[in-house]
Amino acid sequence: MSFEKLGLIAPIMRALETQGYSTPTPIQQQAIPVVLEKKDLLGCAQTGTGKTAAFAIPILQLLWKEKETAQAPDRHIKTLILTPTRELAIQIADNIRDYGAHTGIRHLVIFGGVSAQSQIDGLKRGTDILIATPGRLLDLWQQGHINLQFIRQFVLDEADRMLDMGFIHDVKRVITKLPAKRQTLFFSATMPDEIAGLANSILSNPVKVAVTPVSSTAEKVEQRLFYVDKTDKRKLLVHVLKDASITSALVFTRTKHGADRVAKELSRAQITASAIHGDKSQNSRQRALTDFKAGRIRVLVATDIAARGIDVDNLSHVINYEIPNVPETYVHRIGRTGRGGASGIAFSFCEHEERAYVKDIVKLTKQAIPVVEEHPFPPSQEPAAPPAPAVQMRQSSSQQHAGRKKQKRSWHGRPQQQKS
Ligand code: AMP
Repeated sequence: MSFEKLGLIAPIMRALETQGYSTPTPIQQQAIPVVLEKKDLLGCAQTGTGKTAAFAIPILQLLWKEKETAQAPDRHIKTLILTPTRELAIQIADNIRDYGAHTGIRHLVIFGGVSAQSQIDGLKRGTDILIATPGRLLDLWQQGHINLQFIRQFVLDEADRMLDMGFIHDVKRVITKLPAKRQTLFFSATMPDEIAGLANSILSNPVKVAVTPVSSTAEKVEQRLFYVDKTDKRKLLVHVLKDASITSALVFTRTKHGADRVAKELSRAQITASAIHGDKSQNSRQRALTDFKAGRIRVLVATDIAARGIDVDNLSHVINYEIPNVPETYVHRIGRTGRGGASGIAFSFCEHEERAYVKDIVKLTKQAIPVVEEHPFPPSQEPAAPPAPAVQMRQSSSQQHAGRKKQKRSWHGRPQQQKS
């Protein structure tokens, strides 16, 4: 299956070529025709599956076709994309900029935590697509800066995350402001009852599309488990990062303070690192992310919420400095390094109290995590029954993947041009 077969217009095909995309991902293959036919869609998919392009590409095409036949240009917002976090909003806007580069379709992104003035100025200039977080959208709507009466497509992204983050009430309020006659695309990684209920109430005859259940995303990531005492974790991290083949690592901590402490420790050990979490200003988070993507810093230390939506091509390693107590979170974390069809490596540092969490993870993923026994900081208490076979930690365990980072893989595993 190629993008041509999906009937995409030339301006979009050109942009996809620039991006180095050769094959649509499974969710793109299923969703693009449905959206082009103006049907409602219920997509069960998480980040890393290519879901942003699955809705952004056909929406750009629909808007482009409308623009071609329109008598006069109009400045109304035609598509609303609601997403839970600023990082995701920026990520979606970046993708729409890339895919829509030759279409002349305008987009604008608005989110909280920063001054609203430039967003209000942007709204005054007019936009075709508005990407927004719910709180800021409602604020600016209440102030009369946003007219939602002309929305034709509404995308609700990461609906389950909206629920987790306490935004579901805002989302429901936004929906009441939208015209009843519209196309709705609803995306969620999981379908808890409340989310399934919301989907039922706002979709009409949706086509259902589901890809890669959470437990199977882990399969393409090479995983390693290190048993270590809590007090030795920082030393172990510095030790592991001596391996030069770890070109970029996203390190997860449970708390914001933890993230700051780890980043400081790494900087002391001459390893370039920054922490990002909810207490940092939007500017400093964005700067850290830009530096990381550009390779100016090697390690980004993040909490789960802050890391949500971070999209880094060719991220070589994910390191679980602390093991999450929710097993799905582990899968989401390690999925950061297996993006766009590429594979990656995930290390997990497990202290005594976290051994039960590892058991839950193995139960969910149905995959053993090989244990690295040969490292300088073995735990003072031996694990009772290792959940997985032991492996030797050789420098080559990650070096053998170094060559892979040079090339981005297509969805059929063929090497393709790397995005610049
Ligand atoms: P998403 O699930 O939307 O967060 O996308 C995950 C990553 O996959 C992003 O880095 C995209 O740039 C990349 N991607 C999306 N579609 C394709 C494709 N058809 N071929 C290769 N990479 C893709």
